[in-house]
Amino acid sequence: MNQLRLRLMFPMMLFGWLPAIGAAQLMGNSLDWFFSQWGFVLLASVFIGGYLLSGWALKPATAIMNTTASVMRGVPPTKEMSDWLPQDFWKLRCDINMLFAKHRQSLNAAETHASQTAQRLLNAERLLREAFTALQGIFAASDEGVAVVDSSGNIIASNAKLDEFLGHPLEEVGGRNVQQLMQAIASRFVEKERMLQWISATDANPHLRDEVEAELADNEHRVFSLRTTPMQTDHGEVIGRLWMVRDCSEVRGLKKQLRESQKLGTIGQIAGGLAHDFNNMLTAIRGNLTLAELSPGASNTPDVRDKLQNAGHATQRAAELVKQLLCYSRRSPDAQLRKVTNLKRLLADVQGLLKHSIDPRVTVRIRAGMDASFALADATQLEQVVLNLCLNACDALPTDNGIIEIGIENVMHRTPSGGDTCEFVMIAVRDNGSGISEEMRHRIFEPFFTTKDPGRGTGLGLSMAQDIVREHGGWIEFDSVEGQGTEFRVFLPRTEDPENIDDSTPAYDTRLAQLPTGQRGTILVVDDEAPVRSIAVNMLSFLGYRVLEAGDGQQALDIVFRSGEKIDALLLDIYMPKLSGRDTFKQLRAAGNDTPIVICSGFVIDPDEFTILSEGRCPPVDIMLKPYSLDNLSKSMAKAVKTAHAPETFSRQMAPVMAA
Ligand code: ADP
Repeated sequence: MNQLRLRLMFPMMLFGWLPAIGAAQLMGNSLDWFFSQWGFVLLASVFIGGYLLSGWALKPATAIMNTTASVMRGVPPTKEMSDWLPQDFWKLRCDINMLFAKHRQSLNAAETHASQTAQRLLNAERLLREAFTALQGIFAASDEGVAVVDSSGNIIASNAKLDEFLGHPLEEVGGRNVQQLMQAIASRFVEKERMLQWISATDANPHLRDEVEAELADNEHRVFSLRTTPMQTDHGEVIGRLWMVRDCSEVRGLKKQLRESQKLGTIGQIAGGLAHDFNNMLTAIRGNLTLAELSPGASNTPDVRDKLQNAGHATQRAAELVKQLLCYSRRSPDAQLRKVTNLKRLLADVQGLLKHSIDPRVTVRIRAGMDASFALADATQLEQVVLNLCLNACDALPTDNGIIEIGIENVMHRTPSGGDTCEFVMIAVRDNGSGISEEMRHRIFEPFFTTKDPGRGTGLGLSMAQDIVREHGGWIEFDSVEGQGTEFRVFLPRTEDPENIDDSTPAYDTRLAQLPTGQRGTILVVDDEAPVRSIAVNMLSFLGYRVLEAGDGQQALDIVFRSGEKIDALLLDIYMPKLSGRDTFKQLRAAGNDTPIVICSGFVIDPDEFTILSEGRCPPVDIMLKPYSLDNLSKSMAKAVKTAHAPETFSRQMAPVMAA
């Protein structure tokens, strides 16, 4: 402030003193007085007085300026300043400040809110844009031709697929008018009038959703579906309608194939049941033939013996066919039925089967000089595979001079997955038929793919063959030259161990028949089918056993537990009324009875099932599939009786072996 006062003093002095001198001059007074001693005293007094006066006069002004600055900054003034201002002014100023502060706070909050809302809006817009792009993509890429129609009947959107269906862009067909679109859609179908009727009936009911399938008028027999559905708001208000067209020829074809395969499944089930009954009948026929063959009268007459043997072979073939039926009906638990199989013999069997089922003009030959080859396989399934390849070859052969050649070779080969080189058996089936065209080659293993007429081919043969071979750890390859022929090659892991191979040399000794009945032990035959039971009784009696009979499981339990008979072994059928073979077995073992049991059945049985049923006691000694031969029966029962007489050899872990 002092600086300000000084700064004010000089101009005051300048503009006060000089005019005073001027005035004195004008009035004719001498100026000497001003420069005399008294003049200087006056000057000094004026200066000091002015200085003091300005200090007093400027103080309130300075206070007001400082206070105003404090007020503007919103801070309280110093005491000195407040002394100069009225108290109310301060209260007012504080209220105003409070108001300003509150206002600023709400302004800040509003600003934050606005920026957050703006951010949210930006995000929402981005999401909306993304969703719209995605929807547009889906709409454009849809397999269906789609038209979106608003409530006034204007087409507001459509996709390229619809243009494709119509054969022209929508604009060319009839612009955005739904009536013209419907006309155009209907005229693409064979039954145009029916389609138009359906469209107008559907359109009349705004809430209706419906679909119709019809054939296209394009000579390609394609079937399209026309579908419509209303567009509704959340409140159920109808705001438009969607029309969709789609090619459903493939789906229709698949549905038809599904029906076919369901039919096949049913046939398979029936076949399974039939096979069981056939096996029972064949057991009786085969057994009687064997007994007749072995009777002393027959051996004296070679003619009769030949006839009996022929009948026996025919029964054997019938049994093989039944085995295949069982395989088709998929009652066979695959892995359990695998045993070391002589593939050379298997091919010979297939050749035998083919002789009876294909055109006799076709030559089926087994390649000469084949390796002895064995594989761990389910012989029935494998037979099915080779048979199928041969029948396919047969269908492709020319009417004259058709040749099918089957061969086996032991090869070293890498697995298709590029693994190590291993030993495989390769079964090759070659024909000089029509071959497989380039376009078909990648499709022939597809289920239901067939080029054969309806009723002649199901398209399941190769896919089933591939499944079976893969389950055996192998694979199938083929080469084909159109017009010259095809070769299919089946690769299977090779095994050297011929231990489990079924040896068909008879195990029974005809001299055993001379043994007095009962000398070899007592056997209880349990079977509900009287002819089957009777043949088992006759065969076992022929083999020198004393035989007891039971018509069902309950009777068998009564004989075992109450008759007091000493029984060495049981021959137990599985499927019986009242008490099944399974339950009989379970009850015997549960009661602590360990009599050796041979299971026989018309169905393929899973041996593991009986190991579980035996609950730690003795599992079955053997499992025989009907119709069993005298040889098999003899071997199995001998094993059982031997076990009964030497219980220490009866290993509880013994795995039963299937016998055919
Ligand atoms: P299906 O025999 O019931 O038609 P497959 O799955 O066994 O079914 O065969 C599929 C198709 O593979 C056959 O329809 C046929 O066109 C073709 N095919 C298979 N084997 C041969 C072959 N040896 N020669 C020519 N074509 C074959």
